[in-house]
Amino acid sequence: MTGRALSGGRAASAPLLGHETEPTIFEMSVSGRSAYQLRTTGVPATALADLIPATHLNGDVVNIAEVSERDLVAHFTRLSHRQFSVDLGMYPLGSCTMKYNPKFCDAVANDPGLNSVHPGAPAELTQGWLELLATLEEKLCAVTGMAAATLQPAAGAAGELTGLLLMRAYHSANGDPRRRILIPDSAHGTNPASVTLGGYEVTTVPSNDRGLVDLEKLKASLGPDVAGIMLTNPNTLGLFEEEITEIAAAVHEVGGLLYYDGANLNAILGAVRPGDMGFDIVHMNLHKTFATPHGGGGPGAGPVAVSKRLVEFLPGPKATRLDDGTFAWVKPSRSIGRVHGWHGNAMVLARALAYIDVHGGDGLTRVAKYAVLNANWLRQRLSDTLPAAYDRVCMHECVLTATPLKNKYGVRGLDVAKALLEEGFHSPTVYFPLIVEEALMFEPTETESLQTLEALAEAVERIAQRAIDDPDALHRAPQTTPVSRVDEARAARHLIPTEDAASR
Ligand SMILES: *Cc1c(COP(=O)(O)O)cnc(C)c1O
Repeated sequence: MTGRALSGGRAASAPLLGHETEPTIFEMSVSGRSAYQLRTTGVPATALADLIPATHLNGDVVNIAEVSERDLVAHFTRLSHRQFSVDLGMYPLGSCTMKYNPKFCDAVANDPGLNSVHPGAPAELTQGWLELLATLEEKLCAVTGMAAATLQPAAGAAGELTGLLLMRAYHSANGDPRRRILIPDSAHGTNPASVTLGGYEVTTVPSNDRGLVDLEKLKASLGPDVAGIMLTNPNTLGLFEEEITEIAAAVHEVGGLLYYDGANLNAILGAVRPGDMGFDIVHMNLHKTFATPHGGGGPGAGPVAVSKRLVEFLPGPKATRLDDGTFAWVKPSRSIGRVHGWHGNAMVLARALAYIDVHGGDGLTRVAKYAVLNANWLRQRLSDTLPAAYDRVCMHECVLTATPLKNKYGVRGLDVAKALLEEGFHSPTVYFPLIVEEALMFEPTETESLQTLEALAEAVERIAQRAIDDPDALHRAPQTTPVSRVDEARAARHLIPTEDAASR
């Protein structure tokens, strides 16, 4: 193979222009080239055949790309520049809480004292790690108002399944596993999926005209076969469920449990606690609320906290603080078992504790206040261009609609979202929640300044003006990004684009 130059005859080491295609590492390969050599170690070179018996040697030459370290680093650095990230700019992807992740938390996770420890090392030798995990559990319980938690689940959805297995264990222990779980029609798709995986059936509860759970319809769906309800509060419309204590009372009345989808916890940190609202099981998306890079950026963590009556069923073993001040691995008495190898995604857990400690209680409360302030500022500022689906004070995110642009100029929410990429902003979440037509769900988070919010609003207004001037051009946006419009369904199934899908 011979090394390939970039299109236009430019050298492979030159920075890519937006439209250029990066060659694969194999296309850059030149026979005999290697990334590095250790020339001065003094260790004599030994033929492989002298080290490994011939029967175990693969006779075929494995096709590995042969490139210099310089070209290798340039290749991956160029690729890393062809996407958007929280480190580049505002990422208002509603429901996902794409806040800026402080580098301090990464510095903690990079400490060799933490990350060079084998998870199977005995507790006597890893007291520091056990203390970290036990402390994180205590602080997460303080934030949510719950009795105890498991740190094992790998993400929110894994926490949901864990929570449903806990519900099943609890009801089964009472002699009746029950059959149905109630879910509002605005819920995140993982909720019904987890219910099905957990062996339950979904009953959908409609929202009322204020975007909240319809209490009367909810009561009508309740019965002795209901194992519980899954809710997020604020809900996926960014609105606070004002009747949550009535909802909790009604579900508890029939013996059901309340599951809190904690993806929206950023809105209520330090202000109100799921435990006080009446929830029995709470998952937290540490990668969302407590700042770990996510969405292709790394692993997550979805700890599940529970009220007193569910503590004995929690997954285990758990890092536990003993009376003498030392720590041990203890399995809860009626544990449902493990839901993750070892102890969960430990480095995400370390980052979360760093984030909590660096903010302190008052700092976390301010996180929530600024997140809510930013969302309401944006909702109000954009009200003439993209009106709110439910025109009232929201929590940490606002669901706006492009329906007026669609009706007047044929410009859809997707067109607005794609055009925002040209303006240097990540797109908001589109077409979710499903109950809002042409939904654009903005979650600015607390980490964006007033100036950035203003710039986003101006970008949206420029796009609205383009809808009047040249709507057809908006259907083709974005034009300045490495990849333009793709067939979304095809792109998710065929990772290698065909020529016409990649070109504009
Ligand atoms: C993100 C999210 C989930 C799923 O969490 P993951 O950590 O992505 O598995 C569930 N519910 C809501 C409302 C979410 O925003």
